[in-house]
Amino acid sequence: MTFRTASAYNVDMMTRRYYTRSNVHSHTTFADGRDTAEEMVRAALALGFHTLGFSEHGHADYDDNSMTLAEEGEYRSEIRRLKEKYEGRLNILLGYEHDWLSPANVSEYEYYIESVHYVDRDGALFCVDNTREKLVNAARTLYGGDMYALCRDYFRTVCESIQGTGAAIIGHIELVMKFNEARDLFDDADPRYLGPALACAEVAARSGRLVEINSGAISRGYRTQPYPSAAMLRRVAECGGRIIFTSDCHNSDYLDCNFDQSAELARACGFRTAWEYRGPEAVEYRL
Ligand SMILES: [Zn+2]
Ligand SMILES: [Zn+2]
Repeated sequence: MTFRTASAYNVDMMTRRYYTRSNVHSHTTFADGRDTAEEMVRAALALGFHTLGFSEHGHADYDDNSMTLAEEGEYRSEIRRLKEKYEGRLNILLGYEHDWLSPANVSEYEYYIESVHYVDRDGALFCVDNTREKLVNAARTLYGGDMYALCRDYFRTVCESIQGTGAAIIGHIELVMKFNEARDLFDDADPRYLGPALACAEVAARSGRLVEINSGAISRGYRTQPYPSAAMLRRVAECGGRIIFTSDCHNSDYLDCNFDQSAELARACGFRTAWEYRGPEAVEYRL
């Protein structure tokens, strides 16, 4: 990945509204999205996007929401067809969201997002973003009900993934908060949580990779705020990290979901710039 600084601001000077015309974290009917890849392309064009990156869930044999290896082949063919069909109108990128615990062959993709959805507890895998009930059940059966111990293992896994990956983008580094916006499962200000969370933010920042501010849980009705939290983002900013806004959209209505809010959060946490991934380069712009 190469890095470049843009001269233009991504702000509409009339309305002072922030905008980005790009999203590189998108899902389709090839996995757990609602719309076909071409429907997503048409929605991106209607929004005036310059770049749309597809990042379908790469095969993981423990994950029903991921593509099979055969589906991966069909997915690649379809995205390549769309790249050709819309060439000159939209920069379409063939990407992949890789789950850290799955063996990966990423050589066929233009970029990928490294994400942790599953954690290995002594050989037992559990998912942190499937349902709230499954998360609670994992804490009960694998950690004796200790959510903080679960979160510590989650952040340890995220740190391992960041240190071991070659991905351009680090996906949703605080996914464990997906079902806990009301803080009724655990308190994210508790040092038992905050310690590992901030250490993880530091590892993400120092990796030099693009760290997502992800609004996917908003469009799916789980949250009202993007994540990671302000506390984690402040640490990313202090450590000189790079951020990218993504909608992690599973539905073409939400391609640019709450990017204004993500930008506001970033500014409040000390960021003066953000990045767009245009494959293979990343472009920095003022917030
Ligand atoms: Zn994900
Ligand atoms: Zn995703």
